[in-house]
Amino acid sequence: MAEDKAKNPHVLFFPFPIQGHIPPMLKLAELLSLSGFHITFLNTETIHNRLLKNSPALEQLAQQPRFRFKTLPDGLTSNNTEPILQVVDLVDSIRARCSELYRETLVPQNGEDPDGWPPVTCVVADGMMPVAFDVAEEMMVPVILLRTSSPCSVWAYYSIPELIKRGELPFPEEADMDDPIQGVEGMQSLLRRRDLPGTLRHAKSPNDRVLEFFNTASNNLGRAKALILNAFEPLDSLVLSHIRSVCPIIYTIGPLHLLQRNLNSSTNFPSFWLQDRSCIKWLDSQPNKSVVYISFGSITTMTGYKFHEFFHGLVNSGHGSITTMTGYKFHEFFHGLVNSGHRFLWVIRPDLVQGITTELEIYTTERVCFVPWAPQEEVLAHPAIGCFLTHSGWNSTLESIAAGVPMICWPFFADQQITSRYVGEVWKIGVDMKDTCDRNTIESMARKVMVDEGLRKSVSEMANIARESVKENGSSNMNFQKLVQHIKSLSI
Ligand code: UDP
Repeated sequence: MAEDKAKNPHVLFFPFPIQGHIPPMLKLAELLSLSGFHITFLNTETIHNRLLKNSPALEQLAQQPRFRFKTLPDGLTSNNTEPILQVVDLVDSIRARCSELYRETLVPQNGEDPDGWPPVTCVVADGMMPVAFDVAEEMMVPVILLRTSSPCSVWAYYSIPELIKRGELPFPEEADMDDPIQGVEGMQSLLRRRDLPGTLRHAKSPNDRVLEFFNTASNNLGRAKALILNAFEPLDSLVLSHIRSVCPIIYTIGPLHLLQRNLNSSTNFPSFWLQDRSCIKWLDSQPNKSVVYISFGSITTMTGYKFHEFFHGLVNSGHGSITTMTGYKFHEFFHGLVNSGHRFLWVIRPDLVQGITTELEIYTTERVCFVPWAPQEEVLAHPAIGCFLTHSGWNSTLESIAAGVPMICWPFFADQQITSRYVGEVWKIGVDMKDTCDRNTIESMARKVMVDEGLRKSVSEMANIARESVKENGSSNMNFQKLVQHIKSLSI
């Protein structure tokens, strides 16, 4: 019996149901399935249907003999408007509505898997889904956590109790956002209040729901068999040594999209929107390093006012000038940009700009391209791209690093504020414009980053390290092989 099980590792993936968390999980799931494991990938219904609609590669994956998707009902009941509270509501709702079904998927009551598959031998749980951990532990199934955010944010979240103890969280009223923060071990000379993960800004008391949520998720680090991070060892060795003091076994296997390519998997692009590939053709006709790529990921929204400021800053950044600019209306922005002579590729998701009801009209001209959703990895790797104006989501940051593209960071929430601090001050591969959104700043940063040789050199060096790390004897590749062995050992 033990021998049979050892031959049949079966990993259940339980991702956090938002865009930024699904692709890294799915990439890892696909890689493990190539290693011969059975994979059950548990999605909420809404997420699964959306992914199926927009990512043809998912169907192919589901047709593989040892790969299956299972779904859970969503229970999306949040009345909160604050994104982080919606996230916490979603997690609570999944716990309330899906625990039973999850338990049954993990260990069927009648002892029989409906597809005749071997028992689940390991759960890879998103670190932000404590229910995935708790129920698996209750059913005595080993859990390995995967955190899809930056290692520096993982460590900052883990430090919440220390920050509370020192009176640094919640922020005092009228707090100076530039004051240094002392409560994150190893980052004392680096972090200001404004650099802590943005979600912590909203905490009103030490018992705040958001603080409790991140605290619970962080405490699970000490209970897990291991932690998987989409990062590579040399990028963050100091931070990783701190996290190892809590969770000694860490598998850094990133950048996952490079590892995936290196191990010849199908490089699927799981996506919530249909990719518009017209921008690649457009990029093909642009000079080398001439285009600013702008994308704020899958969640960030901006007001019409901010959109306006971005627009002006970019237009004035030195690659041309605008002739007319009137009003806040979308059509005016679009026409103004089209007439400006700039080279920009801008992802404008249908839900990016709040308070604008005008239907988006997508223009493409010789010098300007707008798309609702781009094949981002491919865009960043394109020789025409000169810099990336990003919200500093961790996937976007890694993709930019891997492509050797310097960044202008406009973090929106969650880990993005601390990640952008690392981009600007530690890795020195971009500039951080957090908490400002005026045209002059955008203009001067765009001017700087498009031509700054120092930034370009640093990010190229880092890209080389990232690429080396996924090669056969590279740290991420070897860590992946160790992870495979670890999961096998759990099925004995
Ligand atoms: N992305 C994409 N096309 C776009 C914009 C984004 O494929 O037009 C992908 C991007 O490559 C990244 C993910 O969406 O993998 C965004 O994840 P990230 O962690 O950067 O931000 P989030 O969406 O979680 O805020």
